[in-house]
Amino acid sequence: MDSVKVALRIRPFVSTEIDSGCRPCIERTPGENQIAVGKRRQFYTFNYVFDEFEGQELVYSTAVRNLLDNLFKGYNVTILAYGQTGSGKTYTMGTNYDGLGELGVIPRAIVDIFEIIKNSPDKEVKVSVSFLELYNESLYDLLTRKSREESIVDLRESQQGISIPGLTTAPVNSMQETLSYLKEGSSGRVTGATAMNATSSRSHAIFTINIRIINRDNPKDAVSSKFHLVDLAGSERSKKTGTTGDRFKEGVNINRGLLNLGNVISQLGEGCQYVNYRDSKLTRLLQDSLGGNSVTLMIACISPADYNQDETLSTLRYADRVK
Ligand code: ADP
Ligand code: MG
Repeated sequence: MDSVKVALRIRPFVSTEIDSGCRPCIERTPGENQIAVGKRRQFYTFNYVFDEFEGQELVYSTAVRNLLDNLFKGYNVTILAYGQTGSGKTYTMGTNYDGLGELGVIPRAIVDIFEIIKNSPDKEVKVSVSFLELYNESLYDLLTRKSREESIVDLRESQQGISIPGLTTAPVNSMQETLSYLKEGSSGRVTGATAMNATSSRSHAIFTINIRIINRDNPKDAVSSKFHLVDLAGSERSKKTGTTGDRFKEGVNINRGLLNLGNVISQLGEGCQYVNYRDSKLTRLLQDSLGGNSVTLMIACISPADYNQDETLSTLRYADRVK
């Protein structure tokens, strides 16, 4: 099993890029999962490449749908959207789900998971969801009724693995019910204005679907799996966003998490004996879902515009290292 795959997604030009006269800086190699960047034509190859003409359905059916089988065999699956603010992470994941427009990865996966369950009458399948936001090394429960300050939860590590005492884990019986939690949690996510994008997200959003499958003929035959769907914080370096003070500290924490994540995934890919999960909360949280019996898809999101070429190259290098 190829345990880590990387998809590159190039979003269409947005109006601000068109209005400021940006030019394309990405050229796709026809028929290959390869692109060339800028005048120096630096080449990068990934497991999948999706360009601005390829929509939500194609991304989902090509790179995501085939991962769902693993969940029903007891493997953990993690999908991570990486990229600078404004590159299309939230659009791709569907973390801003409102039931309108072109659906992203999460709502499509929810639909298919309940379809698979419907077609498996010999199995009893229990599903529950949680939704976390990781902001400045604090974890917030996005599904609680408590106030923001009281919604902070924390990791506990034990022999059984990672747990989060007090985290809302909502049992769900239908696609509609699951989507309503996605919608509820999405609206609670904190966003902070930066010079770069007024609604940029400075936090990681982690939607988790827990699945337990029990064979009706033999209840001892049961497996559990976790499906983490992660809309990572913007990967941009703090210089370009023009941040100081608190915002700058956020930037430092966010980048440390992303840096550790990249290190962990590449250590796993190289078959390292010792993988350093401990250095950030993001990697501690995901540690039982990266490596081992798990499958990871990173969707690296980029802008097509020359204005963003430096950040795009940094995203491509990061994605190249984890693949
Ligand atoms: P991020 O979460 O990385 O900050 P967003 O997902 O919010 O970025 O995307 C920025 C803008 O670009 C949004 O207006 C979004 O609707 C649009 N966008 C992103 N990717 C696509 C795409 N593949 N097709 C159409 N519009 C997109
Ligand atoms: Mg976003």
